[in-house]
Amino acid sequence: MSVAGNIHRLLAELPPGVELVAAVKGRSAADITAAIDAGVEAIGENYIQEAEEHAASVPRRVSRHFIGGLQRNKVKIAARLFDMIETVDSLPLAQALDRQCAALGKVMPVLIEINSGCEPQKSGVLPENAGALLGQMACLNSIHIMGLMTMGPRTGDPEQARPYFTAPRRLFEEFSRLKLPGMSMKYLSMGMTNSYLVAIQEGANMVRLGSKIFDGSV
Ligand SMILES: *Cc1c(COP(=O)(O)O)cnc(C)c1O
Repeated sequence: MSVAGNIHRLLAELPPGVELVAAVKGRSAADITAAIDAGVEAIGENYIQEAEEHAASVPRRVSRHFIGGLQRNKVKIAARLFDMIETVDSLPLAQALDRQCAALGKVMPVLIEINSGCEPQKSGVLPENAGALLGQMACLNSIHIMGLMTMGPRTGDPEQARPYFTAPRRLFEEFSRLKLPGMSMKYLSMGMTNSYLVAIQEGANMVRLGSKIFDGSV
């Protein structure tokens, strides 16, 4: 199946209201271009340098999300390059991003990354600390909290991924009831090729797919 064929099938299959982010790490400009031309509206980048290369070699209008680990010394470039940062997991990172976005006169949509307990990755804020981080981030004027993101396990039985999605979903529901300025709980970004169907059952409305689109075998 071609990249375009995979996208058409996926877009037909995803339930209404579930947004697709094409995870493009390691993918060629031709493949990314094909995905966008087939209907992908958002791409997810893991690495700043590769994202800059993609921005130059894929001059399509597309929403560019950052989904990797953001180093503090890359925040300035990230502020310029992206339309959403999905992986904010600490106040210092949020503050650095806020400062750089303020300098650009831009308000950056962000997701708070939740560490739902999956080893060995240690990125994300622990569920019990997420509320405090949310409250502090909501005061920053040049970022706008739009929801939560979590990784979950990459491989293995998809059913084993299910428990990793329940804590973020509960937090999403809890935070949705808060009325904080500087925040609108809209997106729950969970699920990759291996686990997206389970993630959607658990409430994800944004899925990040790479292999499913570009390797086509799954
Ligand atoms: C690579 C990646 C994905 C996509 O993973 P696949 O298994 O290729 O679908 C999703 N989210 C993040 C953060 C990734 O790094």
